[in-house]
Amino acid sequence: MTECPFCDVDAPRGEVHAHMLAAHADRAEAWQDPRTGRMRHRIECPLCGEAYERTVKPRVRDARFLEEFAREIRLVGFDQLLNHIAVEHATSAENATAGGAPPQAARTEEPR
Ligand SMILES: [Zn+2]
Ligand SMILES: [Zn+2]
Repeated sequence: MTECPFCDVDAPRGEVHAHMLAAHADRAEAWQDPRTGRMRHRIECPLCGEAYERTVKPRVRDARFLEEFAREIRLVGFDQLLNHIAVEHATSAENATAGGAPPQAARTEEPR
């Protein structure tokens, strides 16, 4: 199971992914740089504040295409974020501390 980093949703990864896009699209910023025409994208980890930013160059400059493109960028961003959290902030019940620094925002596991 994958936990949504932004709220309490706990579901299979694919569902969380779709949920994040539906409910937290604003967490993955995607905007077009007016100077370069490139699409910029930024997503911040809610657990440690680390931010990923990157620039992608859309092939087409059509407004509708860019909208669709922004959606895809968000999907990639959320995917990155889930990977980051899985690696850096393993919150699973097993709590695999990989010898690294403990996550700052260690969550208390709620007994079911
Ligand atoms: Zn959520
Ligand atoms: Zn993080």
